[in-house]
Amino acid sequence: MRYQTTLLVLVALFVLLTALFYFGSPQQTDLQTDLQTDSQADKQASSQADKQASSQADKQASSQTDKQADPQTDEQTNVTVLMKDGTVSTMTMAEYLPGAVAAEMPALFDPSALKAQAVAARTFVLSRTGAHGNADVCTDSACCLGWRSQEELKALWGDSFDQYWDKICTACKETDGQVLTYEGNLAQAAFHASSAGVTEDSGAIWSEVPYLVSVESPETANLVPNYVTTVSFACSIFAETLGLKDTGDPALWVETISRDPTGRVAKASIQGKTFTGTELRAAFGLRSTAFTLTWDGDNFVFTVTGSGHGIGMSQYGAQAYALQGWTYDKILAHYYPGTQLTQS
Ligand SMILES: [Zn+2]
Repeated sequence: MRYQTTLLVLVALFVLLTALFYFGSPQQTDLQTDLQTDSQADKQASSQADKQASSQADKQASSQTDKQADPQTDEQTNVTVLMKDGTVSTMTMAEYLPGAVAAEMPALFDPSALKAQAVAARTFVLSRTGAHGNADVCTDSACCLGWRSQEELKALWGDSFDQYWDKICTACKETDGQVLTYEGNLAQAAFHASSAGVTEDSGAIWSEVPYLVSVESPETANLVPNYVTTVSFACSIFAETLGLKDTGDPALWVETISRDPTGRVAKASIQGKTFTGTELRAAFGLRSTAFTLTWDGDNFVFTVTGSGHGIGMSQYGAQAYALQGWTYDKILAHYYPGTQLTQS
């Protein structure tokens, strides 16, 4: 009886705290500039997505160490950063994080999307402790997270620096110390630029991660610059790129294309050789594996939707949800289902 009473009190406390946290989150209302006109935003978001796809996220998935979450405030947490010149700089998370968020997501995005990005980036950095020997992270977007100094951002943003910097610092401060955890361990907070209707299941590319599963993602061509891209290759280039022979009728070269449940290309059989969607993406520099491949009589044509590996949070999806009024915690819970937002 005493045990049951204690349990009831604990459950009631948990519900109360959860409700307090959820409803205590600030509602974001300010609308953003039309992002479709901002080609820089697109480049920024897509370059980081390629980074995640090419190496770092794969490494992250394969070398998961189940690090215990040990949340502290950003001022209390040190990050050692391998700088471009090879030196290692030690700074607090409060000093580091805005430069990473600024490098990874356009400052024009809604504050809720920026806050979701801040939590994902913080979680990622903490999972990289010691990944570079005497440093935790580098500033190479093709390896760890991109990072830009205030001087670089001043040159990039010009007169908008004060406004953008303040907006990004606010997103970091309002999520101070918050990380995503799964069963008490830091989660793998993978993210990408944009998805084709639904995100990718981690098991389709990496090993299965319980919270990196396919979920809906609402971004469309109205929001995402270059959402659908087309790339063409002459048959000689196409064959050479894949190490195949430039002989016979090109219309017959592509035998089968199989798709995973999210619609992305899983495998393609071309001239009797099998390639994964990821291999084709890398070989032809495609923005994602959500593509169709046709022979138009003159060229092989890839029509590609979205950008990045598609796993975890879609940045443009987060922006779309934020513009619908979703708070950052709701966005994170959607893209990383089953994880907990853990507050220091
Ligand atoms: Zn690195």
